[in-house]
Amino acid sequence: MAEENFDPVRGGRKWLLGIGVLLKQFSVGQSVVCYCDGHCPNDEENGTCVGQPGSQCFSAVKEVVNEETGMREIQQTYGCLPPHESGFMQCKGQKVPHQTGRAILCCDDADLCNKYLIPKIVYRSTTPRPDAGYDETIPYIALIISITVCLMALFGVLTFFYLKFKKREDSRKMCLVPGGRGYETYLTSSGTLQDLIDQSSGSGSGLPLLVQRTIAKQIQMERPVGKGRYGEVWLARWRGERVAVKVFFTTEEASWFRETEIYQTVLMRHENILGFIAADIKGTGSWTQMLLITEYHERGSLHEHLRTHVLEPSSLLSLASTAASGLAHLHMEIFGTRGKPAIAHRDIKSKNILVKRNGQCAIADFGLAVRFVSEDNKIDIAPNTRVGTRRYMAPEVLDESLNTVMFDSFKMADMYSLGLVFWEMCRRCWTGDKLTEADEYQLPFFDCVPSDPSFEDMHEVVCIKKIRPQLSSRWDSEEVLRTLSKIMQECWHPNPAVRLTALRVKKTLHKLEVDNSIKIV
Ligand code: ADP
Ligand code: MG
Repeated sequence: MAEENFDPVRGGRKWLLGIGVLLKQFSVGQSVVCYCDGHCPNDEENGTCVGQPGSQCFSAVKEVVNEETGMREIQQTYGCLPPHESGFMQCKGQKVPHQTGRAILCCDDADLCNKYLIPKIVYRSTTPRPDAGYDETIPYIALIISITVCLMALFGVLTFFYLKFKKREDSRKMCLVPGGRGYETYLTSSGTLQDLIDQSSGSGSGLPLLVQRTIAKQIQMERPVGKGRYGEVWLARWRGERVAVKVFFTTEEASWFRETEIYQTVLMRHENILGFIAADIKGTGSWTQMLLITEYHERGSLHEHLRTHVLEPSSLLSLASTAASGLAHLHMEIFGTRGKPAIAHRDIKSKNILVKRNGQCAIADFGLAVRFVSEDNKIDIAPNTRVGTRRYMAPEVLDESLNTVMFDSFKMADMYSLGLVFWEMCRRCWTGDKLTEADEYQLPFFDCVPSDPSFEDMHEVVCIKKIRPQLSSRWDSEEVLRTLSKIMQECWHPNPAVRLTALRVKKTLHKLEVDNSIKIV
């Protein structure tokens, strides 16, 4: 278009040409002589061409690539456009998008009017001109904008999480700083262990770890009270209160870890399971000390208690029913989001059961326990078959026929061991004359295996000879002993599937307790 290509030098000339156009209005039908170059008809090679009436002169430029140099260059041509070709499409060709890279200007106002027309190529965004700086910056601007938006979004997200974290930290500090209303207040004030445990019972899985560590640091050891396979148990004090501290042998880290893990299982706390207080591990490179702090029971283990005491039938019943109750709780799976997995003990014996001051039992020593969540149908550690104390091992453990895929197999093996513990208890219960009518304390199979029996010894007795501890005829005279002797036989049955469950035993003994108390009243 002429306006776009306005050249101030030629402006005056064009003005004159404009007058020419007006004059031409009066001379329609006249032909025009055009300057031609590169577009001349064959017979008019002298640099001009004569257009028919209505024709236009054109000047055209085109961007071409020089085949020799490979450079882009502008090729200019001039000539006449016949009337049918001098419409919009030809004369204003550069206005049409696909015509990018070329331009044309037309005139018919005077002869040779096209000689000084210089069309300019207008580049469009569809094919960006290589040197068009403005167009090239667009992707960069878009990139900068997107990066800025991303950074702002990231900043927003980070701020959100930081504020959330800070809010939680603040409320946590509120609980921990002295004067706040949290556990630290208890640790720095005169709160008892029971207060602490009651406070945390909402979580169902023990005291917060920070509180556990603090308690462990504040412990004063007093004297050793027991020794087992994995560690030494000490009587210790925490702010004057007596606690038991199991110090694991350095080689028994796995056992400490396992026992701690089991004690911190949700809903594990039960009056017939040893009350867990805290666990801590301290170490300096080569040396580690692993502690497990629990409630202290001055009467010690059931083994020790039976060795030194004769039982009344009511005490026997209390010990037996609470041991069954503890094991039933352990074995039971509680469903729900904060439910409890089923747990099998795998080392039930009189040394791993404690006697509380109220004459009830508390099951202890969970170093070999396994957990099972039926929803996942998975036992939480790979259970090796022959673990536990050989003397108390069920026949299927001894002959390795225990089906480790089925969790109930582990519970059934526990029930076998509980049957043997009941036998130990019953021997120490008097009938008739208190002094003479109780049997001396003995371990199960005391009369058929040596003091530290091997697998082979136990296998021979339990699986091959199918020997079980002897039942005393004097037990027939006492209802509790009669009931327990029936129960123990059903517990140590060679076929695990027909053994009683802990829940069944608990219910039977509880009923007997209720009946006996009614009789006494
Ligand atoms: P291990 O895993 O080494 O066998 P245990 O937990 O069975 O250790 O404890 C060994 C012995 O320590 C028990 O048989 C018992 O005599 C004594 N004992 C353990 N815990 C307590 C406690 N809380 N109160 C009193 N005595 C305990
Ligand atoms: Mg033990």
